[in-house]
Amino acid sequence: MLGQLRRIVQDVAQEPILNKALSGLVSSVKHALATECCSVYLADYQQQHFMLMATDGLNEEAVGQVAIGFSEGLIGWVGQREEPINLAQAHLHPRFKVTPEVSEDNFSAFLGCPIIHHRKVLGVLTIQQSAERVFSEDEESFLVTLGVQLASVLANAEMRDAASRSSTAVQQATQLQGLPGSPGMAIGEAYVTEPASDFDAISLKRSDDPEKELALFYRAVKITKAEFNRLAERMSSHLPADALAIFDVYHQLLDAASLGREIEEQIADGWCAKSALKRVVERFARQFDDMDDPYLRERGLDIRDLGQRVLNHLLDTEQRRAKLPEKVVLVADEVTATMLAEVPREQLIAVVSLRGSVNSHAAIMARALGIPAVMGVSELPLLHWHEQRVIVDGYQGHILLSPSEAICAEYQRLISEDVALNARYQQEIGLPSQSQCGERFKFMVNSGLAIELEYTNAQFTDGVGLYRTEFPFIIRNQFPTEQEQVELYEKVLAGYPEKTVVMRTLDVGGDKALPYFSIIEENPFLGWRGIRLTLDHPEIFLVQIRAMVRANIEHQNLHILLPMVSDLAEVDEAIRLIRQACFEVSDELGVSLPKPKIGVMIEVPSVLYLLPELAAKVDFCSVGTNDLTQYLLAVDRNNARVANLYDALHPAVLRALYQLGQQAKALQFPISICGELGGEPAGVLLLAAMGFRRFSMNSSNLAKIKWLLRRVELADLELLLPEVLCCHSPKQVRLQVQRFLEQKHLLTQLRA
Ligand code: PEP
Ligand code: MG
Repeated sequence: MLGQLRRIVQDVAQEPILNKALSGLVSSVKHALATECCSVYLADYQQQHFMLMATDGLNEEAVGQVAIGFSEGLIGWVGQREEPINLAQAHLHPRFKVTPEVSEDNFSAFLGCPIIHHRKVLGVLTIQQSAERVFSEDEESFLVTLGVQLASVLANAEMRDAASRSSTAVQQATQLQGLPGSPGMAIGEAYVTEPASDFDAISLKRSDDPEKELALFYRAVKITKAEFNRLAERMSSHLPADALAIFDVYHQLLDAASLGREIEEQIADGWCAKSALKRVVERFARQFDDMDDPYLRERGLDIRDLGQRVLNHLLDTEQRRAKLPEKVVLVADEVTATMLAEVPREQLIAVVSLRGSVNSHAAIMARALGIPAVMGVSELPLLHWHEQRVIVDGYQGHILLSPSEAICAEYQRLISEDVALNARYQQEIGLPSQSQCGERFKFMVNSGLAIELEYTNAQFTDGVGLYRTEFPFIIRNQFPTEQEQVELYEKVLAGYPEKTVVMRTLDVGGDKALPYFSIIEENPFLGWRGIRLTLDHPEIFLVQIRAMVRANIEHQNLHILLPMVSDLAEVDEAIRLIRQACFEVSDELGVSLPKPKIGVMIEVPSVLYLLPELAAKVDFCSVGTNDLTQYLLAVDRNNARVANLYDALHPAVLRALYQLGQQAKALQFPISICGELGGEPAGVLLLAAMGFRRFSMNSSNLAKIKWLLRRVELADLELLLPEVLCCHSPKQVRLQVQRFLEQKHLLTQLRA
């Protein structure tokens, strides 16, 4: 049964045309369950009805014609109840609705199962039979399991269908909903970057130029064969002749008499080279997977490996050919620092990441660059974005693919308004950082990525509140040397003479991976991350601290910050290593070194309860609201599926921050905020009301936040705070803040 289920779902996923996918689906289900009829209805929320989309057993002429209202008939009932309904005599049921067009008089037994994606009913799958019987529990659980597996495939299929329609016939935009990753709006052309890809990431696509596709395929095969020759030669001294024979088998498989011919046929059938390769490789590999003989089963792996190599070369060629558009909307499955670095800054106007969420590091990077980003747009696979015109609305998390001229003109107007607003904030950037009532604030910047941008505002800030050292590590192919790090850190320290620069020690792990140091974990955000990793590798930690203190000899403005601390022993050990590094450098260079101040990130909930001890051990602390939110709420900050639960304005997070602020004040323990919350209007207002006075944020938020705080009285904010702290939900918190901003006539001035 499991094999049948998997095959049915895979077949639906592979068929790019929705109607075809559904008609294949109903036939396969009918066959698998040996029943007399299977049908599928899809929900249309605009029309409030379910449309019969495919059937094997009812009148086929009713497909696309018969619609059943959301509150009508048994289909509507399955949708309303959101659970399977299994009846022996469906026609006697009070909810049964006679629909003559479908010709179902012969059928008595009925089993309907909803297809639900992200709490939304997408459709209803039914099976019917003439015998008066209740379908068995096995049949019911088969249909339920199929419904669950089909849900995301169907959600994708609908989008793909819409996207291919909009790119061909009707010039109508496809709207996609993601998560607002970085504010702002932009209009540009999608430029898709794919890391070494696998077949799962390839969605099927047709081509109207088979000759070109064939040429691409032959070229990839030629390079793959040459690669095998090189490999075989290199390994000939290490491997016995029979093991080397595998390369001959690979060669033969690629030949025109074997897999190669099948792929050529698929291309001649109208598939693009990648799709043809995928279809053939998956079909053959599946045939081998199903074999009883373990030796032959293994050959399925060989076919996949071979296919993967050809695919890599196909993608390589494609990427090399793709010309960078003038205005790049970078689209990737998961946007990385390296991908961002590859596009010239002046051409990069927006980012779309199919995976990730509002506080993934890709979103934070986009904010640092001051460009809009939308995250978690998982409905549409990468191949459908290629070269499409795109509007990215980073405020709302909207994407419009192939928008009309009229929509573009409207967005262009909004973009111009946004530019005007930003210019207005920028005009005041040089004014004192204080509230309307004269209370002073310290505004610092988060640094580490968009260096040029960060320096343009340097004179208007109180320094760097968070320098994320990991980005220079991520964009290299090996750990940077001590000297390389010294040069890098010197530049940063020199950029802020007489001002504090807080450098955080390496915080990799979680969603920040080093290409040359792979960490594979089931639960990376709860795993080997930040200080945990660097304390286990003192050779990395010590070199970094030595580089920092050497860079500080001239500038003397370094503070050191420890990430992901959850335990006091980690602080003791880190302090010991920092002392050791200072001693070594001072000894080697014969100079006495200024002792850098040491701080701890407050981002793991355990340290909320260790503040007095921390205050006794270190000089300051800095609140990482991004991680604190994820760990307090137990919501992965990088997972779009639970993004609706990740919210730094959650009352629990706000109450924790309030108590933290009070305790730090009582302990006279210097505290600042370096998480994203401090760079957002609602967040900074509430934090100011709680008594926080030091904020470090992305340079692109600085002018706006300063502008906003200069227009509010702390006394007013202090009245708002108790109301907010009593709220039951983030939504209520937002409404309270929105009302406050409206009363102060500030709301409309915060965005176009
Ligand atoms: C945070 O967690 O709030 C923080 C500032 O660190 P990062 O986003 O780099 O994890
Ligand atoms: Mg963090």
